[in-house]
Amino acid sequence: MARIGLLGTGIMGAGMARSMIRAGLDVTVWNRSHDKAAALASDGATVADTAADAVRGADVVVTMLYDADSVYEVISDVAADFGDGVPWVQTSTVGLEGVDRLGRLAAEHGIAMVDAPVLGTKEPAENGKLTVLVGGDEALRERVSPVFDAIGAATVWVGPELGDGHRLKLVANSWVLSLVTGTAQAIGLAQRLGVDPQQFLDSIAGGPLDSGYAQMKGKAMLAGEFPASFGADGALKDAGLIAAAMDSVDMDSSVMRAVAGRFAATVDAGHAREDMASVIDGFDARTDH
Ligand code: NAP
Repeated sequence: MARIGLLGTGIMGAGMARSMIRAGLDVTVWNRSHDKAAALASDGATVADTAADAVRGADVVVTMLYDADSVYEVISDVAADFGDGVPWVQTSTVGLEGVDRLGRLAAEHGIAMVDAPVLGTKEPAENGKLTVLVGGDEALRERVSPVFDAIGAATVWVGPELGDGHRLKLVANSWVLSLVTGTAQAIGLAQRLGVDPQQFLDSIAGGPLDSGYAQMKGKAMLAGEFPASFGADGALKDAGLIAAAMDSVDMDSSVMRAVAGRFAATVDAGHAREDMASVIDGFDARTDH
C-alpha cells in the first residue's frame, strides 16, 4: 500500500485525507494546528507530530497549505527528509510566481515536484470528486496517480511544465470569483432597490443566464449563513494571484482588482474564515477598498 505524507489538513486537506484513506492509501497527516490533524485519527490516518515525521518514509508527499509562503516555509524545513526520488504533489493554490519559486526550491533539493492545483471545494474534496489540473513530468504519472485517483473524479494532465496546471486553475478561479461577486452584486442591488432578490434568482433559474453556483451561493447570501467551503480570505488571496497573472501578460486587471477589493472589504467586515458567499457583505459603499 502506497504511503502518503499529507501536509495541511484544513478544509481541503482534511477532505482529501479521508478520500485517500477510503481509496486504501496509507495516509500520515501533519497540520500546524495539531488538533485538525489529530481529528483524522478516527478516520484511519496516522497523525504525525512534525512535518518531517509525515515526510519520512512517504512514497508521495502532498501539500495542501494556504499559500506559496506557507508551502515554501514548510517544505524548506522538510526537504532533507524526502526519500530518494519521492515526488512532491503540490495542490495548494499558489499563483504563477509561487509555482516558479516552489519549483526552484524543489530543484535545489533534487525533489521532483508536480504542480497539481484542484478545482472543487469542500464537498468534492470529501467525496473524492475534485478535478486535478496537473503540470509536470508525465514520467511521474504512475507514482502520483493513486493520489489523483483517490481525490479526483477527473485528472487533467495539462502540460509537462510546472505552472501548466496553475495557469488553467487561475483561469477557472477568475470565473468562479467573478461569478460569486457578480451574484452578490445583483442580490445586493436588488435588496437596495426594493426588489425581492429571490425573484431575481427565480427569474434566471433554468435559463441561459442561470448557473448552479449563482443559485447555491445566492441561497447562502439570502440566508446570511456562510459555513466555509472556501473562505473569503482564500478568495482574496486568489483574486490577487489572478490579477498578478493578468498583469504579467499585459492584460487589464482592473475588474479582478475590483473583485479583490470586495473580498478585502469582506475580510475587514470579519468574514475571513466564512465562506466567500459572505462577499455580499463587502458591498457597503462606506468600505474604502
Ligand atoms: P484552510 O482551511 O484555511 O487551510 C489552510 C491550511 O494551511 C491549514 O492547514 C493551515 O494550518 C495551513 N497553514 C496556513 N499558514 C501556514 C503556515 N504559515 N505554516 C504552516 N501551515 C499553514 O484552507 P483550504 O480551503 O483548505 O485551502 C487550502 C488551499 O487550497 C489554498 O491554497 C486554497 O486556495 C486552495 N483551494 C481551496 C478550495 C476551497 O474550496 N476551499 C478549493 C480549491 C483550492 P492551520 O490549521 O494551523 O491554520
